[in-house]
Amino acid sequence: MTRRTALEPFIGLVVDRDGARRSRPELFDELLADPATRLLPLWGGRALMTDSSATALDLITPDRQTAALVRVYLGRTIAGDVPVIAVALTDAAAAQLEPDESRWATLRAGGDTLGEVDYALFVEAVAIVNWHESHTHCPRCGTPTVVEQGGWVRRCFVDGKEVFPRTDPAIIVRVVDDAGRILLGSNAMWENNRWSILAGFVEPGEPFEAAVIREVQEESGVECTEPRYLGSQPWPFPASVMIGFEARAVAQGDVPTTPDGQEILAVRWFSRDELWAERDDLKLPMSASIAHAIITEWYGGPLDEPPVQAVRVESDAR
Ligand SMILES: [Zn+2]
Repeated sequence: MTRRTALEPFIGLVVDRDGARRSRPELFDELLADPATRLLPLWGGRALMTDSSATALDLITPDRQTAALVRVYLGRTIAGDVPVIAVALTDAAAAQLEPDESRWATLRAGGDTLGEVDYALFVEAVAIVNWHESHTHCPRCGTPTVVEQGGWVRRCFVDGKEVFPRTDPAIIVRVVDDAGRILLGSNAMWENNRWSILAGFVEPGEPFEAAVIREVQEESGVECTEPRYLGSQPWPFPASVMIGFEARAVAQGDVPTTPDGQEILAVRWFSRDELWAERDDLKLPMSASIAHAIITEWYGGPLDEPPVQAVRVESDAR
């Protein structure tokens, strides 16, 4: 994808999910009879690419499909009006379709290289197939459920319960202090000296804004206020959507930080000049992430160029 320096919708509106059509009883027969229809093969979270550099999805014609674990109608591309069905393949079916494993790429591998439409289709496919793989049985009675609505519902025929896909909301937040510095943390699960903005899951019954203030307090000891929504990014690893915010530190001057010591091992304030000066030692989020976009927007330009002093985001000018 193109590298972003401002927060626009992270994935553009490039796929019409065509929700009204999902309820048609002959949906898949109709789609498979349409010569425009393409299949998006998935195998263990990986999609088939046209080559090993993961620059484009290899969307196949329906006649090439073999056994599928599950299939989901993803909708139609808006630019090309191409109906696309995700098909999750068994190991054997994937090997039969394309034995060269270098042509099967993960979403993370394709994040920087795929075009916007392919990336949107890949994200949608991984997210919904992840849900199917972890929701095969009725949560009420344990009976295996059947797939309906083009892959967007699973139903239990014992008690009639319909199970719908779920997404777990997680906030991700850029906290700035009164000098315009950004708060970054280093997660215990990450490699050494990798830093990013703070993030955490929204708890049941909790507004996003309260989750922002709670997570920042828990992970850094910093009290922040005035959370402001920036944008969102689906993050199907396995089932999240990241909801981006900015907030400002309540205290003035050098606000002390206290990492929680469990999830976050280190946390500190960075000025733009410090981020640039220490660039050889810092590992920052991958470019196809909302974390990268949020940091880049604060920085005022690409992170591999010196900070432009004249550029300041709104939060610094208060
Ligand atoms: Zn049931």
